[in-house]
Parts: sequence; C-alpha cells; structure tokens
Amino acid sequence: MAIIIDGKTVSASVKNSVAEECRTLFEKTGKKPGLAVIIVGDDPASRVYVNNKKKACELVGFVSREYALPASTSQEELSALVKELNSDREINGILCQLPLPKHLDEKAVIELIAPEKDVDAFHASNVGKIMIGDFDFLPCTPAGVMEMLDYYNIEIAGKECVVVGRSNIVGKPMSMLLLHRNGTVTICHSKTKNLKEVCRRADILVAAVGIPKFVSGDMIKEGAVVIDVGINRTADGKLCGDVDFAEAEKVASYITPVPGGVGPMTIAVLMKNTLTAFKLQNLL
Ligand code: NAD
Repeated sequence: MAIIIDGKTVSASVKNSVAEECRTLFEKTGKKPGLAVIIVGDDPASRVYVNNKKKACELVGFVSREYALPASTSQEELSALVKELNSDREINGILCQLPLPKHLDEKAVIELIAPEKDVDAFHASNVGKIMIGDFDFLPCTPAGVMEMLDYYNIEIAGKECVVVGRSNIVGKPMSMLLLHRNGTVTICHSKTKNLKEVCRRADILVAAVGIPKFVSGDMIKEGAVVIDVGINRTADGKLCGDVDFAEAEKVASYITPVPGGVGPMTIAVLMKNTLTAFKLQNLL
C-alpha cells in the first residue's frame, strides 16, 4: 500500500514558516505583507477559493483585501482597479480569481498586473523567468507539488517524470519545475498516443487532466510516486481527483489524496509568494 502524501501537514508547515518570518519582519519594519484578491461575479467555487485565501492571510498575519465586483463589471472598470492596486504601497500581491465572466479578457487582466505583484506567476514576464530558471515567484499549484516531494524526501534528479496535461497553470510549469530539478520529463496531452505505456514509464506521475479517475491502476508502474492535481466533482457532488485512488494506492509507493493532497498546497504557496513579493518590494 502506498504512503499517503498529506497535503494538510505539508501546507501547515509552509504556512507556519511564512507566519514566523512575517512576525520577524513586522518587528523589524512595522509593516505587514498585503494581498489583494479580486473576484468578479458569483461563481460558487471561486467564492470558496477566495474565502480560503482570506483565512490563510489571517492565519499567517498578512493584510488581506477583497474586491468583490459584480458580474456586469466592464474591462475598463477591472483595469482601473488593477492599475490602482499596482501603485498601492500597502499591497504587495494582486490576484484576480479565474475564471472571469465570459465578456472579460483574462489575458489582458493578467498582463496588466505589475509583474512584481503577480503572486500567481501568470504574467508573461514571470512565465519567461521560470523558463530560464531565474524566477521570483513560482506558480502556486506546481510549486506546491514540489514542496510535497521535498517534504517527503522524494528524489527527482534522473527520475522519469510524466506530466499528463499541458495547461499554462499546471501542466507546463509543472514540467519545467521537474526539469529544473533534473527530472527526465515527458509532457502528455489529449493528442498523446499510447498514453498508458508512456505513463507506465513514470517514476513520478503527475495527473492534471480534469477528468475524474482518468488514471487507472494499470497506467502506473509498481512503486511510482503518483501526484493527483485534479479537482473534480462526481455526480453526487463529492470531490474526486484525476486518479483512481483505490486502484492506484495498491501500486504506487507514494500518492496524494483528493481532497487533502495538492489542493491545500496551492494556497500555502500563494502565502509564500506574497511574502517574497513583500521582501522584494521593501528590499528586505
Ligand atoms: P485544463 O483543462 O486547462 O487542461 C487539461 C489538460 O489535460 C490539457 O492540457 C489537455 O491536453 C489534457 N487532456 C485532456 N484530455 C486528455 C486525454 N484524454 N489524455 C491526455 N491528456 C488530456 O486543466 P487545468 O487547469 O490544467 O486543471 C487540471 C485539473 O487540475 C482540473 O481538475 C483542475 O480543477 C485541477 N486544478 C487543481 C488545482 C489545485 O489547487 N489542486 C489548481 C489548478 C487546477
């Protein structure tokens, strides 16, 4: 049976060290890191994520500001808010909760956020920095996966790493981070041929597909480390990942559950990134 990689424990450890550093810096400077979260419309899943971010800010001792805008907000109004926050000295990190309502241009909003306040690391300038391995912030979910691998002392160098999914938010940056740590990385996607065979080569298999139980037990090599990024809802409303957990835990050496795996890590890394932004902006 696989060892369960406990995202709650790892995320608590990351948040504790952020809180500790935040306290020390407050004693030194009298300032606290500030995170602004913009939410447009009333998507229930987005509302849950934004509330969790607010709670995490309170826990680590950050100033948190929420801007809840109506679904009818225009591009100009949203842009004006982002520009205002870009020059707000109390705010070190700006996050615009995605997805935005259909009439709004997400890419334009992301590109308008000042790169030094882009704590999601979605701005083209930060994405480019990740490519060349010279970054300030790492995208929250893939960086959360790396924190988990490190916490459990899972070796990456020289390992066959297979990432299923090539989104800009998860799959692509995940692949890059594994590559920076000297993994031998294969990226799979909806057009990949012989997916099962490719996945079975993996020592570390990361699933970021968005299809419930997409990765079955026979796609996993005996002893592989299985990281399930997927957050899906079953017909009866329960959360489930991209991996068939019951099958996979019999074959894997380590596995992340859903919920309680990668999910809590994303917010922990967001806190870490906001602290980094605060330090960079205050030359600390
Ligand atoms: P996405 O829809 O943008 O990308 C999905 C990827 O899966 C695509 O690159 C596509 O090529 C690939 N894919 C689709 N069908 C496939 C198939 N049959 N075979 C192989 N590859 C296939 O999704 P995303 O934003 O990357 O998110 C993926 C999952 O991760 C979702 O369930 C999402 O909810 C979850 N997620 C979780 C967190 C977290 O905090 N844990 C953060 C972001 C996303």
